[in-house]
Amino acid sequence: MEMNLSKTQQLARAILPTTWYEAIRDSSERWMIQCTKCASERSVWSVGGIRWGAVAYGKRLAVHCSSCDKVVAAKLRYVSEDCLSKQSDDSLEQLSSQRANEEKR
Ligand SMILES: [Zn+2]
Repeated sequence: MEMNLSKTQQLARAILPTTWYEAIRDSSERWMIQCTKCASERSVWSVGGIRWGAVAYGKRLAVHCSSCDKVVAAKLRYVSEDCLSKQSDDSLEQLSSQRANEEKR
């Protein structure tokens, strides 16, 4: 399945080795742009951007939100693999074992 790629993304695919391109695509799909008005989220990749490397968290930018249908302030947010998958179970387990230790004291 081939998505429609923006000019930037086409260029990245054309000039970069496949592994780099895929790494950048994966990274860009984890960077979410969140509208500060309605809280709807899209990935940087899905709006035709690419994002690679470290960026300041919480950086504000002006984007057109399709839900609000106007240009709004938006936040950038990185969704890590930990966040996506095994988030809760591990931390809950750690919490409860910590509590158990404290009760023993
Ligand atoms: Zn919005």
